[in-house]
Amino acid sequence: MTVELLTEPLQANYIHSLQQVTPQILWIGCCDSNSKESTMLDILDDELLVLRNLGNMIIDGDLSCEITIKYAVVGLQVKHIVVCGHYGCHTVKAVSRDGLNGPWLSKLNALHSAYEEDINQLPLCERDRSFVELNILDQMRSLRKYPEVTDAITQGRLYIHGLVYDSQTEKISRLLGQQNH
Ligand SMILES: [Zn+2]
Repeated sequence: MTVELLTEPLQANYIHSLQQVTPQILWIGCCDSNSKESTMLDILDDELLVLRNLGNMIIDGDLSCEITIKYAVVGLQVKHIVVCGHYGCHTVKAVSRDGLNGPWLSKLNALHSAYEEDINQLPLCERDRSFVELNILDQMRSLRKYPEVTDAITQGRLYIHGLVYDSQTEKISRLLGQQNH
């Protein structure tokens, strides 16, 4: 098990704009990030269906999350789902998760426990960043628990992407090795 994930800068036109006013991307992002998704992806605002919550999480039993994913995949038949985290996230922290409770806290604690040994080997300054990346991968795994999502992936009409935004450099990167195509 490794927690040193590889990233690469997001290429221009990573997801091509269709120049249409119907969403082709479900964007799952964090609500304490002020990043502007459509600017990062260089696509039209109308091409995004955006779901935000604390820590860009997909939690079992979260009805808002569940209906949005199903509506996007089955109803709108989006072609992409992006899970975008951000370094410096106040919710997704390796060291302290003060103020959180319930399923949000449980899920983050379980993820931290699974990788604790590896995370603790990293320098302090890298632990939160690594945990943000691990959380993105964890939510990508959660996405694949939806039969609607796995069916669409199997049929080759849906792709899942993990991205991470760095507000200090204003750059967005793609997590490597986790794509489903
Ligand atoms: Zn955040």
